[in-house]
Amino acid sequence: MSVTPDAAQSPSAGRRFRAYTTKHLDELTARAGLAADERLAVRAVATVLPFRVNSYVVDELIDWDAAPDDPIYKLVFPQADMLPQEDVSRIADLLSAGADRKELNQAANQVRATLNPHPAGQMDLNVPTKGNEEPIPGIQHKYNETVLFFPKQGQTCHAYCTYCFRWAQFVGDADLKFASSEIDQMVEYVRSHPEVTSVLFTGGDPMIMGEGVISKYIEPLLEIDHLEAIRIGTKALGYWPQRFVTDPDADDTLRLFEKVVESGKNLAFMAHFSHPNEMAPELVQEAVRRVRNTGAVIRTQAPMIRTINDDAATWESMWRTHLRHGMVPYYMFVERDTGPQDYFAVPLAEAYDIFRTAYQNVSGLARTVRGPSMSATPGKVCVDGVTEIAGEKVFVLHFIQARDPELVGRPFFAKYDEKAAWLFDLKPALGATHFPWEVPPEGGGSNGLIDPTRL
Ligand SMILES: *Cc1c(COP(=O)(O)O)cnc(C)c1O
Repeated sequence: MSVTPDAAQSPSAGRRFRAYTTKHLDELTARAGLAADERLAVRAVATVLPFRVNSYVVDELIDWDAAPDDPIYKLVFPQADMLPQEDVSRIADLLSAGADRKELNQAANQVRATLNPHPAGQMDLNVPTKGNEEPIPGIQHKYNETVLFFPKQGQTCHAYCTYCFRWAQFVGDADLKFASSEIDQMVEYVRSHPEVTSVLFTGGDPMIMGEGVISKYIEPLLEIDHLEAIRIGTKALGYWPQRFVTDPDADDTLRLFEKVVESGKNLAFMAHFSHPNEMAPELVQEAVRRVRNTGAVIRTQAPMIRTINDDAATWESMWRTHLRHGMVPYYMFVERDTGPQDYFAVPLAEAYDIFRTAYQNVSGLARTVRGPSMSATPGKVCVDGVTEIAGEKVFVLHFIQARDPELVGRPFFAKYDEKAAWLFDLKPALGATHFPWEVPPEGGGSNGLIDPTRL
């Protein structure tokens, strides 16, 4: 059975980008062997959460003989049990009854609102302002050294991950999007903030932009002396390696990367890889070679996701493969507190155990990876381990990055809780009354940190 994606070209060469969306979902899930009622439930979930996949992922990455259990299938296809049963049934009933778009959207929006669409105060906590007046759209400046930039044209992806923490911006509510076409404002902001040494282009996926667009964002930054690195956060190597090999602007893109390197800055290519199978096709290996040949450094990162990569052998294999291809393992993230988190969450204790087992088995060259790391409102919190202090079982944690730089690199503790899956599930330990980023209770209390002057 074959499903025809949205495109003018024939699928033969597999080179031109073609997308599959919800209207192809029933055929694709049938190919995965799902029964009619399961397919309807999946469509109901896809009414709430975004779905998009492309011909490369469908033809080259998914093992259809293993679907629906194949990890790459699970990476991109919604699952019937990702949302509460009653929500799925309600929307499935609307779909069966042929409800119109408006009615479906209304029901979908109600469910979306229950899924914490904007975790970590993204919409209001980190957006800088011009001379303390209006906010500069499309910029987040949370940590001193690094500014995040969301180019307007880069706010979609070659395919959508089911676990995406930015899912809310792909479901069609324009207000939820970070966006900026204001290149000058961004450049001016970086120029006037000498503490900013690194700009991170993110999205969506900035590599969705053609070279002609992305160069307009990157080139002006090359003039700024204090800027040390330009980062591009992208899943294009995993989802569309053609971007660097056979796309019409592949060579120009690589020349742009070379230009960044020649300007004396680090081009840090932050590649999102979720599973070792993404590295199997020869095409992605060729893409990695080509990107590295520009002098760019490829660093790899992904969240740990239940049912997709929640075992040590998967991470070990992934880090080994990345190392072999000259890429540098960077972060293992904990799935964020948004969207179908209940479905994907791996408890911190288990995530730590998986991390440690995989870390133990790779050479020091791959131990550049940090994690499991929670990117939360106060900062990036790393679970360093589980131990017992004065008879109390605790998590040992530290901030890799923090909104308050004073907190970076200082160990703190939380009560051990085998079910805790996010920072806000944790409770202070060892007599502390509150966590270091929290406001002390009435009358003082202890945040558990040692006064640094007494170290
Ligand atoms: C992770 C992150 C960064 C970059 O942090 P590094 O530790 O330098 O990789 C910057 N801004 C935000 C909001 C982040 O989540």
